Amino acid sequence: MDKYDVVIIGAGASGISCAIAYKQKNPFKKIVILEQNDRIGKKILKTGNGKCNLGNVHIKENSYHNWEYIKRAMKQFDIIDYFGEMGVITRQDEQGRLYPYSETASSIVDIFRYELERLQIEVRYSFQVTNIFTEKNFIVYGTSTKIEAEKVVVATGSFAQEKTNGYELLEHLGHHIKPLSPRLVPIKVEESVKSLQGIRVKCLAKVKEFEEYGEILFKEAGLSGILALNLSRYVNKNDKIVLDLAPDKSYLTLKELIEKLASRDIATILRGLLPKMVILDILKTAKTPEEIATKIKNYSFTVKDLYDFEFAQVARGGVDMDEVKEDFASKIINNCYIVGEVLDIDGECGGYNLMFAWMSGNTVGKHI
Ligand SMILES: Cc1cc2nc3c(=O)[nH]c(=O)nc-3n(C[C@H](O)[C@H](O)[C@H](O)COP(=O)(O)OP(=O)(O)OC[C@H]3O[C@@H](n4cnc5c(N)ncnc54)[C@H](O)[C@@H]3O)c2cc1C
Repeated sequence: MDKYDVVIIGAGASGISCAIAYKQKNPFKKIVILEQNDRIGKKILKTGNGKCNLGNVHIKENSYHNWEYIKRAMKQFDIIDYFGEMGVITRQDEQGRLYPYSETASSIVDIFRYELERLQIEVRYSFQVTNIFTEKNFIVYGTSTKIEAEKVVVATGSFAQEKTNGYELLEHLGHHIKPLSPRLVPIKVEESVKSLQGIRVKCLAKVKEFEEYGEILFKEAGLSGILALNLSRYVNKNDKIVLDLAPDKSYLTLKELIEKLASRDIATILRGLLPKMVILDILKTAKTPEEIATKIKNYSFTVKDLYDFEFAQVARGGVDMDEVKEDFASKIINNCYIVGEVLDIDGECGGYNLMFAWMSGNTVGKHI
């Protein structure tokens, strides 16, 4: 049976960054990454619509679920320096979102692949870990072989657009998994929005205490677009989502405008303000200037459900954060570390989830 100092399970964002940081510090240690796919970083390629929104320069308390567990480590992590050291120049947009200057996710995967080769880090592909046992060391089982390791890092990611048994592996070792549900995912609504499918509106969205300005993209049965994905972090069934379709115009201004033009065809007049199908939908129930202005300021939808994991960018839930230390070492199993999205951490849209994955992997790689 092959024996390693460190086995990392998963060659995604967190597993790769962990391996690189560890090997840089410990060039003579024996390390392997076990990856169930036939290549590294499959999910990284999908990120940021293929452009890889790899981080964000602004972090607020509500950027992450369970922020209090990671705030110290996140504040110490400099994402621009982290990529700069690998030769990746970043490009920043108005919202503080960071991309590789090339704006191609494949460039990031290529650079990571090069770093793994340069540091002579072994990667075993098509190796799905099926079980982990703790004896004196860890025995890590694949479908046809097993490996012995002194330390194990679990970096298996989440159910969002991927398959993983990482949660089961950790449960088997004694960890508790907080209930899993999709997040950064479109929202199904009770109202019929079929006629609006494919239409985008810029608006201020409010649900409970959360409000954000951005773009909604209507889907056949619900709301998508970055704004809806962010709302999905806050909504529950039956919550009311209220869209203000003209946030910089007051109710009074809109009402007076509509009153002034009441003798003309209002459906046409409003085309300068909103997409045609949205106006027609509003005019189905709103008839008077007051009703129309009210509806433009309060275009409301009732949450029916969230779309499934196959449409989600991340998962809420995962390994209970009370069971890991600040350096992501397990409190339950000695010499075991848990990084990335398999933990009960998820962030808003804008680079926060990858940034947590790089940060947690890098932290463990440095501190093992
Ligand atoms: C469509 C999409 C777009 C996204 N866009 C962005 C974005 O622009 N910015 C952003 O910050 N975040 C984005 N995210 C989220 C981000 O990709 C994830 O949060 C991040 O990749 C998590 O990193 P990870 O290392 O924890 O998991 P992953 O990157 O999923 O890596 C886990 C790896 O473990 C492997 N694995 C799992 N189980 C086993 C096993 N038993 N044995 C061996 N290998 C195993 C998997 O095959 C996978 O390679 C997006 C996600 C999706 C789905």
